[in-house]
Amino acid sequence: MTSYVIPAHDIVGLPVAGTADLFPVRRVYCVGRNYAGHAREMGSDPEREPPFFFCKPGDAQAVVPAAPNRVLELPYPPLTNNLHYECELVVAIGKGGANIAVADAASHIFGYAVGFDMTRRDLQFKMRDAGRPWEIGKAFDFSAPIGLIHRADEVGDINHAAIQLDVDGVTKQSSSIAQLIWSINETIANLSTYFTLAPGDLIFSGTPEGVGAVARGNVLEGKVAGLSPITVKLV
Ligand code: MN
Repeated sequence: MTSYVIPAHDIVGLPVAGTADLFPVRRVYCVGRNYAGHAREMGSDPEREPPFFFCKPGDAQAVVPAAPNRVLELPYPPLTNNLHYECELVVAIGKGGANIAVADAASHIFGYAVGFDMTRRDLQFKMRDAGRPWEIGKAFDFSAPIGLIHRADEVGDINHAAIQLDVDGVTKQSSSIAQLIWSINETIANLSTYFTLAPGDLIFSGTPEGVGAVARGNVLEGKVAGLSPITVKLV
């Protein structure tokens, strides 16, 4: 049995609908500006810019399971005055590979969940405008709450599902997965040219327009039609 010089860390297991078994998280990839409306509100030209990616940690300090039918209390992070929500469809990879063809991409998907790509927008913009990496704006503690994973074969066609986020009962984001600039399959194919994907990887597929700041006490509800919604309260 392997023994470590310091305690080995645990991997995050996300609950899967219909089973007591967990989905073991490996890496968390995120697509930037994958909805035209969001690209515009971030001040860029959405015209078929190639997809680009950033990462969040896949450990328990960043990825937080958000159980259905309960409110997940999420600490408001330090060093920001402009914490934004980004409601996204999260794709869970079940089969790895590199240079995956668009036509084969669906066979690499285990399932889907709703997730929030929480963002310290002030820090992200400061880094972006200086040409520096986004990590301090994107990869902070508790920055990736993710709901129940639903198996792809039980969800059916996710590519036209509605996606919505409400803050305190008021709808702020409302769009469709069909509005993605780069579809789920295209995203997997492109991402897999840069990184060899492996079972356990998660992909935040991008957020629609309507992102905004939230404060302590706000309650965020995220939904993608066909999946379990998630509810987060900032504390
Ligand atoms: Mn995002």
